[in-house]
Amino acid sequence: MYAEVIVDIAHSDVDKIFDYACGGDVVRGMRVVVPFGRGVTTGFVMRIKEETSVPPEKVKKIVRREEELPALTEESLFLAEKIASRYHVPMALTLRLFLPSEMRTGKVSERYRTVAFLKEGPLELPSRAKRAEELVEFLRENGEQDTAFLRKQFGGALDTLIKRGAVVTQKKRVFRDPYAGREGERAEHTLTNAQRAAVEAVKTTQKTVTLIHGVTGSGKTEIYLDLISDALARGKTAIFLVPEISLTPQMLLKLRSRFGSAAAILHSGLSAGERFDEWMRLREGSARIAIGARSAVFAPVESVGIIVIDEEHDGSYSSESAPRYRTFDIARLRAKYNGCKLVLGSATPSVETYRRAKEGEFSLVTLPDRINARPLPEVQIVDMRREVRRGNASPFSALLRERLGKCLEEGNQAILFLNRRGYSQTVICRDCGYVAKCEHCDVSLTYHSDEDCLKCHYCGTKYRMLPACPECGGRHINYVGTGTQRIVGELKKLFPAARVLRMDVDTTSGKEGHFRILSRFAAREADILVGTQMVAKGHDFPSVTLVGILDADMSLHFPDHRSGERTFQLVTQVAGRSGRASAPGEVVLQTYDPDNYILRFAAAYDYEGFYAHEIGMRAATNFPPFARIVRVMVTGEEESETVEALREVYTLLNEIYEAERDRFLFFNRMHAPVRRIQNKFRYQVLMRLTDGGILKEIYSACDKVKRKGVLVYVEEDPSNLS
Ligand code: ADP
Ligand code: ZN
Repeated sequence: MYAEVIVDIAHSDVDKIFDYACGGDVVRGMRVVVPFGRGVTTGFVMRIKEETSVPPEKVKKIVRREEELPALTEESLFLAEKIASRYHVPMALTLRLFLPSEMRTGKVSERYRTVAFLKEGPLELPSRAKRAEELVEFLRENGEQDTAFLRKQFGGALDTLIKRGAVVTQKKRVFRDPYAGREGERAEHTLTNAQRAAVEAVKTTQKTVTLIHGVTGSGKTEIYLDLISDALARGKTAIFLVPEISLTPQMLLKLRSRFGSAAAILHSGLSAGERFDEWMRLREGSARIAIGARSAVFAPVESVGIIVIDEEHDGSYSSESAPRYRTFDIARLRAKYNGCKLVLGSATPSVETYRRAKEGEFSLVTLPDRINARPLPEVQIVDMRREVRRGNASPFSALLRERLGKCLEEGNQAILFLNRRGYSQTVICRDCGYVAKCEHCDVSLTYHSDEDCLKCHYCGTKYRMLPACPECGGRHINYVGTGTQRIVGELKKLFPAARVLRMDVDTTSGKEGHFRILSRFAAREADILVGTQMVAKGHDFPSVTLVGILDADMSLHFPDHRSGERTFQLVTQVAGRSGRASAPGEVVLQTYDPDNYILRFAAAYDYEGFYAHEIGMRAATNFPPFARIVRVMVTGEEESETVEALREVYTLLNEIYEAERDRFLFFNRMHAPVRRIQNKFRYQVLMRLTDGGILKEIYSACDKVKRKGVLVYVEEDPSNLS
C-alpha cells in the first residue's frame, strides 16, 4: 500500500504529493515521519492507495506513525483543500491551522500516570510478607492507585507483587484541567419571550446563516448557550467563537458551570500543555463544545450541530497572516459540510453582513430591547472646542469631571475609553519641528511615562527619552496628543482617592493578559478602568454606571472607507458597558466634531439610520460591499530587490488590468502608507474591483514573482490598510 503524503514544510517548491510505501496501520489524516532529502521530516497522509506510478526502486518507506488516532479529521482534510486552493497557500501551511502548534513543535506531549490494581481471581502472595499483605488490603479497599503513591507507602512490596502477577499496572492518560477547583455559580436564566423567539427562529429557518442583531445587554449570550445545549442534546457538537478579549474570567466560569468538562475553552491564558490537552479532548470526543477566538473555528470536533460567531463585526475574525482567511467563510463551509446552522450575533453588525441579511441571504432576528426593559444609557455629546475656548486644556470636559465625581461618590464604577495607549501620541521639537521616529519602521514614537522611554507601536522597540532635540539641540520637547497613561496621571490629580486600573497592550501582556485586570475590576478592586478598544468588548460589569469616551474623533479620521463604521461600532459598544444592571447608566462622549452624523446616530442608538446613510454612501462612491478592495503587498529588507519585485508583479497585474478594464474601479502602485515596518520596505498595488471574478488571476500573477528575501502576497478587503 502507498500513502500520499504532504510534507510539513511550508514552501511552494515542495507543495505537492509524495508517495511512500506503508503498512495497513497507516490511515488518512495521520501524521507520519518520512525520509525526505537527506534526513527525515513530518508529513500528513492525505490518501491511501493500492498503486503508485513511482518506480519501485525509488519508493521510500514511511519511518513511523506519529499517532494512532489521526490528528486530522475527514472534515479537516476537506476544509484544508478548499482553503489551500482558495487562498493560494501551500497545503502544509493550511494543514497547520488544524493542529495545536504545541503538537507540531513537539514541545508538550500527552501526560500519563501509571496506576496499579489487583489482578482478578485468586492471588498468589509471598509468604510472611507483611507489607505485601497490607498493600493488597489497601488496594482491595481503595481500588486502583497511582504507582508512585504506592511505592512511597509500601516500598519494594509493590514491585514484588507486580513481578508475581498479583498486581497489574496500566498507563492512563491525564488531562491537565485549567479550571480545576474553580467552580462558578450555576446561573441559568429562564429565557424571555424575545430570547425564546430568537432560538426558534434560528432552528426553523431554511437558511444556513442567521444574524441576531440585538442591542447591548439584550441577552444574546443566553440565546447562544441555549442553542448549544440543544445541539448537545441532539448528540452533536458545537463551536462558539468570541473575540479573545471577551473570554473574561466571569465568562469562563459561566461556560464552565453551564457545560462542565463538555466545554473545551481555548484562550491565551492557557499554558501550552493545557491548550494541547483541551484540543485533544475535543479530538477524542470527551469535550464536545469548542470555545475560543478565531482559530477555534478549526477545532477538531465532528458532527457539528451549531456554530456561533459572537460580535461578528470584530476585526479579530480576519487573519492578518497567511493564510489570510475570514472566519465567517470557514464557519459557513463547516455549517454546510455538517448541515447545521451558523449564528452571527452583534449589536453593531458590519455593514456587509447587515446588507446580506437585509437582502435575504441570511435570516435576520432583531432584539431592540435590553433584558427586563432596562433602558440603554443616555449619551451626552460634549463639544470639546467650547471647552478649549473656555480655557479648559485638560482631557476632561467639565461635564465628564462632574459626572465622574458623582459616580464615585455614589460608590459606582466608571470606564474611560480612548484610542491611544502610552502617554502621548508623538514627541515633537517645538523649535525645529523634529518628530522622533523608529529606526526600523516609518512611524513616530510614543512616549511612555511609566518606563520613561519612547516606544514604537509597530515593532515594540524602546528608545531612551530625548533630553534635547537631536536635530537642532533645542530643549523644548513637547508631548502632543493624549494616551492612556496620561489620563491615569490626570485622574490621580483630580480624584486622589479613586483607585484606577489601566488596560491596554502595555498592561495586558503575559500569560494572564487582560484576565488579571478584568477580574480585579469585576471584584471592585478599582473604581475607574481606563483603556483602549479592549474595554469596549462585551464585558458585563453590573456596577458600571458611567462611560466616558474621551476622543470619539480619533477613529473617524482614519483614511479607510470603514472608519465611520468602526467609529459607530466602537461608540455603541463602549456605551453599552454602562447601566447593565439595575442602576441606570450614562455616557459622556467628547468630540471636536459634535455635528458628525456618525456620532449623532451612535448617540441615538440608531443603527438603521446609520446603516441607511452608510450604505447609500458606499453605493455612491463604489466601495465595499459594492466593490472589492484588493491589495498586493510587496515587502523585503533590500529596497532594490523589493522595488524590482514590485515592478514585476505590477507588469503582470497591468496585463490583467488592460484585458479586463471594466472590472477595475481603481488600479495603482505606490508606497504603502507606512513605508517600512521592522526593517522591511513596503510597497503595494492597490485595486478596487467590481467583484471577485479575477481574483484567481491576481493570485496566479503574484505566485509567479519569486525574488530572494521578498514577500509578495494578496490581501482581500484588508481590515488594516497601513
Ligand atoms: P448581550 O450579549 O446581548 O450584550 P448578555 O447576554 O450579556 O447580553 O445579557 C445581559 C445581562 O442580562 C446579563 O447580565 C445576563 O446575565 C442577563 N440575562 C440574560 N438573559 C436573561 C434572562 N432570560 N433573565 C434574566 N437575566 C438575563
Ligand atoms: Zn519600529
